[in-house]
Amino acid sequence: MPVPEFTITLDQKRYLTDDVMYLSFTAPKFSFKAGQYALLKIIQGEQFRWKPYSILNPPQEKGKIDVCAKIIPGGFASEYFKEAKPGDTLVVRGPIGLFVFDENDQNEIWFVCAGTGVVPFYSMIKEYLPRFPHQKFVLLFGVRQRSGLFFHDEFTSLQQKFSNFTYIPTLSRDQWNGKTGRVQRHLPSDLQGKTFYLCGLKEMVLETKELLLSKRVPAVNIKVERYT
Ligand SMILES: Cc1cc2nc3c(=O)[nH]c(=O)nc-3n(C[C@H](O)[C@H](O)[C@H](O)COP(=O)(O)OP(=O)(O)OC[C@H]3O[C@@H](n4cnc5c(N)ncnc54)[C@H](O)[C@@H]3O)c2cc1C
Repeated sequence: MPVPEFTITLDQKRYLTDDVMYLSFTAPKFSFKAGQYALLKIIQGEQFRWKPYSILNPPQEKGKIDVCAKIIPGGFASEYFKEAKPGDTLVVRGPIGLFVFDENDQNEIWFVCAGTGVVPFYSMIKEYLPRFPHQKFVLLFGVRQRSGLFFHDEFTSLQQKFSNFTYIPTLSRDQWNGKTGRVQRHLPSDLQGKTFYLCGLKEMVLETKELLLSKRVPAVNIKVERYT
């Protein structure tokens, strides 16, 4: 079946960190599952490219597509996002992707990510914490510096509100009174009865997957979304 195509309109945008931009689009006819992504048709002059971006908002927040884009100097989509203004329209295809939460899984769920790899988990956490109060969810979120830890306050207050949610932020290139080092360092020692969802750039996803497989986590309990 062909993937549906829609026109969406930029409603607002702002920087969450020095190099991560939040963009919110109105998308009246769009519906999706938490964890899926959309292809945005980015036009620059005579050229266009379809660029995938995970959907940030949970499906219950209907009529919109929120994304968080890492802004890379000279990047095709990044340069477009920098210049985009409220009211601008974009064509999107979606929803796409099988990186969705298995609602029949009884395991403890570990969402493991770095940088904007947190985006699909934000959607899943908002969607599933209230719906599955007896299931344990852990978010292990790595960034380089404290200033790059977007959504920190929100995840901290979700942890206070939901006893089934644990938030573990870690900084790989900064000191603070929390955890440091890459996410791989903070995986649980007891890997039994857990399902791991991994999202981020290729190196982090592949390394973490290999580590889990080497410790005999069944492949079926490791789900991955790679951004490159
Ligand atoms: C399924 C899927 C979902 C995705 N969801 C998101 C998302 O929610 N948020 C998001 O920011 N990105 C996401 N990406 C990546 C995104 O599609 C772009 O590739 C990325 O944002 C760079 O786009 P660009 O056009 O600005 O740069 P490009 O012109 O494509 O790239 C410029 C250079 O930067 C490098 N590069 C690409 N990504 C990064 C990065 N994250 N950090 C450092 N260097 C990089 C490239 O290798 C290239 O050399 C997703 C990718 C996939 C496959």
